[in-house]
Amino acid sequence: MAQVNPDFMETLRQAGTDTGAECNNCGTCVAICPLAEGHFPRLMLRYAQLGAQELILDQAQELWRCLHCGLCTQTCPRGANPGEVILALKRFVVASWRRS
Ligand code: SF4
Ligand code: SF4
Repeated sequence: MAQVNPDFMETLRQAGTDTGAECNNCGTCVAICPLAEGHFPRLMLRYAQLGAQELILDQAQELWRCLHCGLCTQTCPRGANPGEVILALKRFVVASWRRS
């Protein structure tokens, strides 16, 4: 079972944004994302909310598929800024790699 970090949103805030806490899992970002595969980026926001950092690190390659087109952030009805959260997650992953 994957361990969770209850302070992960603070980690993300330091990496750029903690707006992912606003996500209510509606799926609009999945529908608009041109990658059109799986549950990206919603799933990554869910992992972030849960503090499932092991899963984020295990699936880090998914983050680098993001084109940073901004469509998800423009259309998110909750102001969760999913595109910015993806960028913050990339920073978290790179910092983790540097420490290892
Ligand atoms: S559109 Fe916004 S609220 Fe809906 S799942 Fe994506 S990030 Fe969450
Ligand atoms: S910014 Fe990234 S996650 Fe958001 S819609 Fe564009 S490619 Fe998809």
